[in-house]
Amino acid sequence: MDQILGQVLRDAVWERLDMLADLASRADTDSLVSVARSELPRLTEGWRAMLSAHEPDERGDCPTCSTRWHRCKAPCSVWQVAHEHLVAGGLAPQQDLRHPWRRTRSTVPSARGTKPAQSETTGRHALIPQVATH
Ligand SMILES: [Zn+2]
Repeated sequence: MDQILGQVLRDAVWERLDMLADLASRADTDSLVSVARSELPRLTEGWRAMLSAHEPDERGDCPTCSTRWHRCKAPCSVWQVAHEHLVAGGLAPQQDLRHPWRRTRSTVPSARGTKPAQSETTGRHALIPQVATH
């Protein structure tokens, strides 16, 4: 049952992301402004909540991705993805601030078809077998 609920939860989140990506590409300007005002704060809050769970501890390890047997050095994959999408991608604020008149083309990939790999090989989730093989 937990597995089904987990799947429902994940599907709902993927659908929400698909819907937002779809809106970004197809909505008219007024709708886009309205959606941006309501959704951008929610997205930034979501990033903040997720990243705070992955802040390095006093040893420089990620407490969320580390297990008792395997320490995960910070920055963990969550921080790496955050940096890749929020800083190194099309949203790079440094470049925009220095050259505000320049229009940079967004290099943030579309949300579609970029779902992460289904199985993880590191962190606490590595301990959960994907398929029973015994
Ligand atoms: Zn982490």
